[in-house]
Amino acid sequence: MRYLITGGAGFIGSHLAEELLQRGDSVTVLDNFSTGAHENLKRAEQSERFKLVYGSVTDKELVTECVKGVDKVYHLASAVGVKLIIEKPIETIETIVEGASIVFGACARYRLPVLLTSTSEVYGKSESLPFCEDSDSIIGPPKYRRWAYASAKALDEFLALAYWHQIKLPVVLVRLFNTVGPRQTGQYGMVIPRLIRQALAGQPLTVYGDGNQSRCFCHVNDAVRALIELLDQPECAGELFNVGSTEHITIAELAKKIIAETGSSSEISYVPYEEAYGQGFEDMRHRVPSLDKIEAQIGYKTEHNLSSIIQCIVSHEQGNDANTRLP
Ligand code: UDP
Repeated sequence: MRYLITGGAGFIGSHLAEELLQRGDSVTVLDNFSTGAHENLKRAEQSERFKLVYGSVTDKELVTECVKGVDKVYHLASAVGVKLIIEKPIETIETIVEGASIVFGACARYRLPVLLTSTSEVYGKSESLPFCEDSDSIIGPPKYRRWAYASAKALDEFLALAYWHQIKLPVVLVRLFNTVGPRQTGQYGMVIPRLIRQALAGQPLTVYGDGNQSRCFCHVNDAVRALIELLDQPECAGELFNVGSTEHITIAELAKKIIAETGSSSEISYVPYEEAYGQGFEDMRHRVPSLDKIEAQIGYKTEHNLSSIIQCIVSHEQGNDANTRLP
């Protein structure tokens, strides 16, 4: 099978590319390296079945060209990371909305199945945990720039489902919950790579707010397996699935765990949100997925717990990348 992965030079996309190559598929990656990195593709590039196209998902001609030669599409290209979203709201909205419109349009032209990676941010500030795929979204007001990301991604979901309902384009929607693992950069906010790097460098671990907000972290390999199985199954067309883990932890506890597991002498530094993200920021307190739907559909179970995730990332940061898939 020949796949196109938009945003394939990113953290999740590059792991997905490797997994598909490993099972014998061909992969074309379209990426403009806005947040992705060539370095992420160094293993994928060892395969003769891999092709890299440099460019943007907002370039209609290029996207059409890429889509023409493949059987299925993963649309991952997106602005990513709370920090980037707050700092570059125009690019965030435009890339997400225009990109999806162009990619779905091209897929419709060649009638290709397409999987959209959306985000648990779409549930917003809802407090009815766990979040089920049919739960209501509670999005904050536009003065908080963070919600632009959730709103733009929600619009992509509506557009994907519109293609399904109107012309039966096989679209699969996935809401990812805090995917983490080797190669994730802390540059755009993400808490685990940031805290691990701080712990390894003996610097204070920056916990934002009171640290009582909680998250469930999912190893990228578990997420990638789900992405592959969901697009393999034709019955998933027109459906939305949560992908993540249900092991939740507060950020203050996470910082303590990282200090303990790295044997670091670092302390915890509590940083007010305004200092971390400036004005225009609002966090979500808790986020836990219901995985009932994906468990029933593909028998999804996570293989990595939080300790194993931390070990994998520490090992990657220390230059011992055990996450080898390709020869
Ligand atoms: N966070 C933190 N310290 C950091 C980076 C993030 O305490 O150095 C917090 C952030 O405010 C949020 C949680 O960790 O409450 C998860 O942040 P991340 O950006 O990884 O993902 P989010 O769930 O916000 O999309």
